[in-house]
Amino acid sequence: FSRRDFIKISSLFLAGSAAMSTQIGRTFNGSGDALAATGEERVVHSICEHCFWRCGIAAHVRDGKIYKITGSEHHPLSNGRLCPRGTGGIGQIYDPDRLAHPLIRERKGGTTTYRKASWDEAITLTAEKLYQIKEKYGPEAIAMMHHGYGYTFFKQMFHAFGVNKFAKPSYDFCCGPRHQGYILTYGHSAGTPEGIDIQNSRYVIFFGTHYGENMHNTAVQEIAEGIRRGLKIVVFDPRFSTLAGKAEKWLPIKAGTDIAMMQALMHVLISENLYDKEFVEENTVGFNELWDEVREMTPEKAATITDIPADDIRDIARNFARYAPAAAVHPGRRTQWYADGTQRVRAIAILNALVGNYKMPGGVVKYQKYNIAKPDAHPHPHFEKEIWSKYPLFTDIKPENTIASHEIIQQTLQDEIKAWFVYGVNVPETVTMGRKTAIEAMNKVEFLVAVDTLPMEVTGYADVVLPECTYLERYDDLDAGRPYRTPFVALRQPVVEPMFDSKPGNEIARMMAEKLDLHGVFPDSVETYLDNRLKKEGSSLEEVKKTGVLLGKPTDLYRKPGEKLKFKTPSGKIELASSKMKDAGFDAVPKYVAQDEAPNGYYRILTGRKPMLTFGRTANNRFLGDLPTAKENEIWVNPDIASQHRLEHGEYVHLKNQAGVVSEFPIKVKVTERIRKDAVYMVHGFGHYFKKLNHAYARGASHNELISKSEIDTTVGAVGFQNNFVTFIKEA
Ligand code: SF4
Repeated sequence: FSRRDFIKISSLFLAGSAAMSTQIGRTFNGSGDALAATGEERVVHSICEHCFWRCGIAAHVRDGKIYKITGSEHHPLSNGRLCPRGTGGIGQIYDPDRLAHPLIRERKGGTTTYRKASWDEAITLTAEKLYQIKEKYGPEAIAMMHHGYGYTFFKQMFHAFGVNKFAKPSYDFCCGPRHQGYILTYGHSAGTPEGIDIQNSRYVIFFGTHYGENMHNTAVQEIAEGIRRGLKIVVFDPRFSTLAGKAEKWLPIKAGTDIAMMQALMHVLISENLYDKEFVEENTVGFNELWDEVREMTPEKAATITDIPADDIRDIARNFARYAPAAAVHPGRRTQWYADGTQRVRAIAILNALVGNYKMPGGVVKYQKYNIAKPDAHPHPHFEKEIWSKYPLFTDIKPENTIASHEIIQQTLQDEIKAWFVYGVNVPETVTMGRKTAIEAMNKVEFLVAVDTLPMEVTGYADVVLPECTYLERYDDLDAGRPYRTPFVALRQPVVEPMFDSKPGNEIARMMAEKLDLHGVFPDSVETYLDNRLKKEGSSLEEVKKTGVLLGKPTDLYRKPGEKLKFKTPSGKIELASSKMKDAGFDAVPKYVAQDEAPNGYYRILTGRKPMLTFGRTANNRFLGDLPTAKENEIWVNPDIASQHRLEHGEYVHLKNQAGVVSEFPIKVKVTERIRKDAVYMVHGFGHYFKKLNHAYARGASHNELISKSEIDTTVGAVGFQNNFVTFIKEA
């Protein structure tokens, strides 16, 4: 197991049977015999897993097969509707490429291959290897990377085993800076859904977020309602995004200059006395330090940095103040572009604070979450989170992580981590440190276990592959972590039985716990566990299964007249200058730092997403990937640049980055005025190189392959990768 060649999983062990193909065909055509058969119909309420938003779904079953997925009218995040990806869950459960059996890597006659294994054999081997590695190197040599919501039982199992290195890559490029930037300023996170009362807002400014293209269901419903009520939108983005198409003003800002623009907006608010003086005096600290920092960033100066005219900057700041407090700057998502993501989010939070929109209709609001009792946890050793991460402000992030995921890669390369347990993360194509570095780390790790539903690229590097059933075939832990207008607890429950020889994560974790002699970590069954939790809330599993949710009292969103505000920051106030940043040796007030310029003939790669896809989650989903605009990604090129490189709209080119890496697959050129001349744009999540992803293989180019430079935000340990540049190689 010391060498980890990427190997192709034999089709023998996949689900691609004729029977499965027939099922897919029928389901897609919607009129096959199976669907026409008369039989009992039922609807099961559960939770979507096509992205982290976790909307409530109603899965419609006929003759034992799911034929339609709609939005649950009971779940506050769906409100009876789903995004296109959510309706496409059928494409995941009935994907003919699904992993069907446990697999074990073995070497025979000089070649490495996989063989089908029983669950007992695969779990025994996994437990033995993890036990040996823990005995030899200590528990800190084992790490788990996870994505999606089924990881919690594995985490409980690993805690009991003494392991405490957990990371989700989305921390590195989105959640980390996003939450921490807000926590440092307000004492609480920006929220998911974002704590902006957008449907009651009159003016919202966005910076480079792919809002709408990410199709987060509730957010899209809320902004649509806001627009219906007269909301005006302003979008700063080097690309004319879908959201820009809804905006009253699109400002094609130079990429990497957001903080300069935010400082200039602050400059106008303060120098023209447009900020909410009373609110700022009563509720904030650090105003003088802030003014000292932004005093020099006049609109004229910012115009030379950002390429946005000074008059536009003034107009926007004045409008922002005019519509406040029913106005906001949106915190965005996928916030880590460079190494300054935390400061960039802080600057957004500061802009909001200056106009006094906190807990005001149309402004920044703080949703409540359902305060559910903690599960009866098996006692486990006390862990000092700080020991894993070297970033001083990482430790304020309390949820699923104890370490940034790029640290797992780096510690593996430094021989500190020896075993990976990967749950639902397609590591080579996940934007932590680029494909090449991820593969180097996977080649080095002594033992790698992948739990997944599909033969993603990561499974080709694993020693043991454990096929989990999809979210439509299993229970997961209760979803009780997210604050919203109406707090809720939501249930994921099986709609149909697990297909093939796949198993739910909760069962796999239980089997591993037994093999590791960790008795008593889990109750008798997952149903008992869930029932026990729900009984503490005065309900039961039986009850919650009916609608899929347990609702709390609606959040009191707005400030009452005369209400004294308190913030969980060291000063108890909104920190325009952050004492924690200062104490940790960082700038207390966000500073603008110039980013790298592109080499001659190269263009900065900007990335985003398509509304019907969620990267690896949906890459192979025939329901979604066959939609005409979802088949492949394109490279957006400004017409002047296309003409310089003699590129035609619709032709295919390879991309070469500044380090000489050339994309394995070609990508289609889209010549468009919707992108600045100094940047190109592509959707992440294409260019899969694993042939067993029959649908996704070789469609478009991989963005991750072209990341040769990553920069760490040393405050929270997040990773930025937008200082990568490409040029074009025409097909011979
Ligand atoms: Fe599913 Fe769409 Fe909701 Fe995400 S936003 S959970 S993909 S329905």
